[in-house]
Amino acid sequence: MIEQNVKNILAGIGTNPYGEKVTLVAAVKTQSPQDINRAIHAGITHIGDNHVQEFRDKYDLIEGHPVRHFIGHLQTNKIKYLIGKTDLYQSVDRFELADELSKRSARAGITSDILIEINVGCEESKSGFDYEEGFAAYSKIKELPALRIRGLMAMLPFTDDESILRPLARKMRVLYDGLRKTDGNICYLSMGMSGDYKLCIECGSNMVRLGTSIFGARNYN
Ligand SMILES: *Cc1c(COP(=O)(O)O)cnc(C)c1O
Repeated sequence: MIEQNVKNILAGIGTNPYGEKVTLVAAVKTQSPQDINRAIHAGITHIGDNHVQEFRDKYDLIEGHPVRHFIGHLQTNKIKYLIGKTDLYQSVDRFELADELSKRSARAGITSDILIEINVGCEESKSGFDYEEGFAAYSKIKELPALRIRGLMAMLPFTDDESILRPLARKMRVLYDGLRKTDGNICYLSMGMSGDYKLCIECGSNMVRLGTSIFGARNYN
């Protein structure tokens, strides 16, 4: 099941209409180390965690040295458990978090790669900077010494109404292109989950985060 899903998805995503290779990140929240390792053996090279405790519990059991992403809401007091073990912090949703990540990275003698999370649908239930604040947030975070901004991350509203999703996904690509023009480190637009990733790729995403379509429906018990 998992193996076939990974192969099918990898065969299907390819490149986006901008000719950019699309990176598949497996969203592994609630999944067992065994199932995560099955996905890795089938071809997954990037995995993304949401919860620091789960990340720590499973850390030594993950095989094959995948690239590690953190994709969940992150409390500043938990950063210490991730420093040096996370390759890309995707969900930098507030300046305070960026500032603390930079301080902790500097103390560890490293530079951390991050994405700036944008709440493109202006949803109460989601975190991230407002779209209109995106460039200002970028400029302010850019000043922090131990971070390298690699791009943007967004979660679209939970709907299958394409007339809502498409304009939002396109807006994200506009902001991404604006930043990319002035900053050569910018190369990721992380947008797309199981329900909307095909649409997101069509609109210019080059990184998708998939859980359900790899592992099946999550069991939260
Ligand atoms: C869970 C999660 C995903 C994957 O969701 P699916 O709908 O299961 O593909 C992607 N991004 C984030 C931030 C998530 O928390």
